[in-house]
Amino acid sequence: MVAEEAIDREFKHRVAQYLEGQLPTNCDTCGTCSSACPVHQALPGFDPRRFIRMINLGYKDELLQNTAIWYCALCNTCTVACPQDVRFKQIMEVLHKIAIAEGYVEPSFLEALKEIERECQAYRCEQIATRLIELNPELQKTEVE
Ligand code: SF4
Ligand code: SF4
Repeated sequence: MVAEEAIDREFKHRVAQYLEGQLPTNCDTCGTCSSACPVHQALPGFDPRRFIRMINLGYKDELLQNTAIWYCALCNTCTVACPQDVRFKQIMEVLHKIAIAEGYVEPSFLEALKEIERECQAYRCEQIATRLIELNPELQKTEVE
């Protein structure tokens, strides 16, 4: 239970300012986003439906202090799945923006996240190159001018 003084009833309006599509308040808590989310499959504590509920209830501090909001892979699956057009991937980006602007995250944590993103990007490029060469071995001989 969050203490009344820790509740920010304006938070949902603040988040909504940045959004296209339906507002978080349009969520009917059906749970489709959580069922579809690949991160939720791996880490049940990462729960998009719960995060949206926290926004609507005004649990701003509790939400933005939670490092779990940074586990989102920004894959957009939840947005495509939502029957209410609540665009949760976009909401996650807004939460990240507000968390950074208002000092909820340490710079060292952000730097570690950027390093993970760089490693993932390098891995992705390597995998794409490997698969393309498997599909067409001639590519390996191609010189780029
Ligand atoms: S799928 Fe949409 S309506 Fe259902 S819980 Fe998620 S955000 Fe809410
Ligand atoms: S964008 Fe984030 S919350 Fe949505 S399905 Fe992907 S990982 Fe899950």
